[in-house]
Amino acid sequence: MSRWKNFLECTELKNTKFEELKAKAAEGFERYGIYSGSLNQVGNALIMMVYDDTQKYLIMIGEDARLANLNGREEIIKGEKIKVCPITNENCRVIRNIFIYTNPQAHKGKKITIGLGDRLGLASTGHIQTVKDLDVFPVLAQQSIRELNLTGRNYEDVLSSAAWAVFQEGYKKGYGADGDHLKTAEEVKMAVDVGMTMITLDCSDHIDNSAAAGEVVELMEKYNRFSSEERVKWEKRYADKKFEIEGFEFFITSDELIRMACVYGKAIQHTLDIYHNLIAKSGREIDFEMSIDETLTSTNPASHYFVSSELINAGVDITSLAPRFCGEFQKGIDYRGDLGQFIREFTVHVAIADYFGYKISVHSGSDKFMVFPIVGEKTKGNYHLKTAGTNWLEALRVVAVKKPDLYRRMHAFALEHLHEARKYYHISAKPENITALDRIKDSELAGLMDKEDSRQVMHITYGLILLAKDKNGKSLFRDELYEVLHKNENEYTEALKKHIGKHLQSLGL
Ligand code: ZN
Repeated sequence: MSRWKNFLECTELKNTKFEELKAKAAEGFERYGIYSGSLNQVGNALIMMVYDDTQKYLIMIGEDARLANLNGREEIIKGEKIKVCPITNENCRVIRNIFIYTNPQAHKGKKITIGLGDRLGLASTGHIQTVKDLDVFPVLAQQSIRELNLTGRNYEDVLSSAAWAVFQEGYKKGYGADGDHLKTAEEVKMAVDVGMTMITLDCSDHIDNSAAAGEVVELMEKYNRFSSEERVKWEKRYADKKFEIEGFEFFITSDELIRMACVYGKAIQHTLDIYHNLIAKSGREIDFEMSIDETLTSTNPASHYFVSSELINAGVDITSLAPRFCGEFQKGIDYRGDLGQFIREFTVHVAIADYFGYKISVHSGSDKFMVFPIVGEKTKGNYHLKTAGTNWLEALRVVAVKKPDLYRRMHAFALEHLHEARKYYHISAKPENITALDRIKDSELAGLMDKEDSRQVMHITYGLILLAKDKNGKSLFRDELYEVLHKNENEYTEALKKHIGKHLQSLGL
């Protein structure tokens, strides 16, 4: 019998005050499996989230018209009508209609905002518990199109996972939902339609990196393809002018302007098109982030200024902007590069962002412990930071401890298919540096999550692992992985609190 039924059997629901019920559920969590934060009254009905050995449910006791659309099977316990509802997107919509705090919201004006990408849809509980007592606004739902494709999920799944976790925890301080690294109008439209509250536009396809290196005379043909109106406007605004921003000075020559226009001109036009046609017309508040981070060369101050100035002049309301910083922000490992240079350049980027009234966004922010203190200090606690893959690695750490055999099979599979993942993620890991599995004891497997080479290999192969199927179409790892993490929800939550907690500490929180 499901444990939550014991709660109903041994409690006089009608004669017990709501607060007492909640306290009893909280105290008896192990015994009843009821998430007391989710216990709510809707009219005369009671609802709560519960779990048993295989899954979670939403339980409704009694009836209320607002809950009539919940799907589930009916049972009678102690003469009381009970509805046992699966945790689906459909049922989530009913909950989101009643409990407004379970919906994502825009965050412009909030100082510290952190993207906590959750590829499995199981990490938000741990994230909420990590940030709930801090002055941090979490963007719990955050996925790129690449991640959706690699995990076989869609934006509604991602939103529902976050909303259910918020409901489960009874977390009422607000959270965001980021359609991350969207490139086309179709992608942005899809994310806006589903209700994402932040749109990160990735302009890399419209940034012409080749123009960064060529001779200016060779760029003239490209430059002249922009309308004369546009060119005159740019020349008037930037050519042969000195700019002074919060104590930093830079001079833009007419040659430099031509070069910047060739590199970023199309990206600016694309951004204006998307912003004015899709974001501004959405009829609701959306945090707009422009990302120019996925390019080969780092963004210099003049280029950052030029791009922002053009967007702001054209009426774009920017919440954050992600420049490409010097050095390397590789997946799953610490910063690589000249830290002194990073500090100097980062400080100028922050000054430009302050000047225009938005904040700097740091992407690939998982595990960048060397740069966190700088980010916290130089922005004076006003920044956006994105993490994602590190939450998946913490899930693997739990699997390595709780089901070593499954971990071993996933690890072997990851190594075998690494070349496929390397097509879309750049890492420097060398698989030959990873100790062979047959020489590692079960008790040492979790330690692989502390070594750079194995971290990176497991980090980028998540999609291949999650979508792998045998010849009968049955998932090779996915179902088993979800099962282990369901049974060990507490362990996963604790691992995230520790690991993301360490991120926040380094940021100065
Ligand atoms: Zn990025």
